[in-house]
Amino acid sequence: MATACNLAGVAKVPAALGLSTSLSRKRVESSSTSLRVSTRQRGGRRACEPARCDATHPAEDHVEQVDTREFRRTLSRGKNYNRNGYGYKKEMLEQMDVEYTSDLVKTLKENNFEYTWGNVTVKLANSFGFCWGVERAVQIAYEARKQFPEQQLWLTNEIIHNPTVNQRMTDMEIKELSVTENGKDFSPVEKGDVVILPAFGASLQEMQILDEKKVQIVDTTCPWVSKVWNTVEKHRKNIYTSVIHGKYAHEETVATASFAGKYIIAKNIKEATYICDYILGGKLDGSSGTKEEFLEKFKYAISKAFDPDRDLEKVGIANQTTMLKGETEEIGKLLERTMMQKYGVENATDHFMSFNTICDATQERQDAMYKLVDDKVDLVLVVGGWNSSNTSHLQEIAELKSIPSYWIDTPERMLSGKRIAFKLNHGEYVEKDNWLPEGPITVGITSGASTPDKVVEDVLKRLFQFKREEVLALL
Ligand code: SF4
Repeated sequence: MATACNLAGVAKVPAALGLSTSLSRKRVESSSTSLRVSTRQRGGRRACEPARCDATHPAEDHVEQVDTREFRRTLSRGKNYNRNGYGYKKEMLEQMDVEYTSDLVKTLKENNFEYTWGNVTVKLANSFGFCWGVERAVQIAYEARKQFPEQQLWLTNEIIHNPTVNQRMTDMEIKELSVTENGKDFSPVEKGDVVILPAFGASLQEMQILDEKKVQIVDTTCPWVSKVWNTVEKHRKNIYTSVIHGKYAHEETVATASFAGKYIIAKNIKEATYICDYILGGKLDGSSGTKEEFLEKFKYAISKAFDPDRDLEKVGIANQTTMLKGETEEIGKLLERTMMQKYGVENATDHFMSFNTICDATQERQDAMYKLVDDKVDLVLVVGGWNSSNTSHLQEIAELKSIPSYWIDTPERMLSGKRIAFKLNHGEYVEKDNWLPEGPITVGITSGASTPDKVVEDVLKRLFQFKREEVLALL
């Protein structure tokens, strides 16, 4: 999901809007130039006024005063809200089948995920591509278009992180809200419009804006993501700080943070170790420093007024659903051990809370990738949007194994049989020569949870073409 963060379709506005301290005190005015939100925070300080304001925190501490669960419940019962589609599921899935599936991938599946074409043997990961949450989101978006043929349809973000599917949304005249230097611009959205929330959800503040604007909300948020929101709401209710394993600028994590109370976002085990070392006063590995250094290090990844001396006494683990699942588990165990060490084994449950929020689809795709890289392959192609977090972790698994691996979002990244342009898991763009070995080869291939099989097919066809050209050149 770039460093990991900028890769991840950055949501600049969301939680940082600081829009409301309580729903009842919020006043939203629409003007021809921009939506403006006027609200007061505790202590009478005025929150950032324009709805498009920028900020440093993924979410503000105003959520302490908002019953986010109740807000979501009320919203979901309203007549302007839909999260189940409009009764066209079968028809839309058939249409998606035509647009996104692949005969070539079907052949691979029918042959135990391995097949040889000419001098290329392809091994396909046994779990790959569209997850059900993504398929469901795209299907509901298609249904919304059919249900509202005349209305303006908006997306608060890319429906999923895949250029092919997003282009399809554009073709259906479903527009994405633009992001200016001040954040997301809701000003063009008018009463009566239809606004689709993507598979990875939307922040509380965005939902509040849309609710106030009285638009039709079509919520495609994956239930796994909602499950994480429920978890951080439980943390908040029990006055635990949420430690979120994720990337602070990723839309899903921005949304999750907006439903949390106190929170800190750790992008990997290294950052989590730093946090635990701080909790233990430097007695874990000595990696942490002073309070000021702590606050500087996590300045974009903590709730407002976060105090590490006060807010790390009781913690709960949550995650961005697409993170490396082994790492989320490791962070959870580290936090638990830290609390045991600090407060005694018998008191650990008073200081640490854990729920399983790792999404099955992420888990299955990562497990399949571990298996694929253990197999004998000459190289691995990882197919998926360059802003897709789950795809970046598939690439990471191959890199950890030191297998030549190329994360590409379209077939055209294979510039020729001699040169390829790809990304590394942290988002660095690389071009490489002589990437394709000569002679018979075995290629491993997988695709991220938001990648249609059709894109995998197009990648393979281009690969076959290069290998055919190689043979012809020898004649
Ligand atoms: S990867 Fe998991 S959480 Fe994300 S959309 Fe798919 S099923 Fe849902």
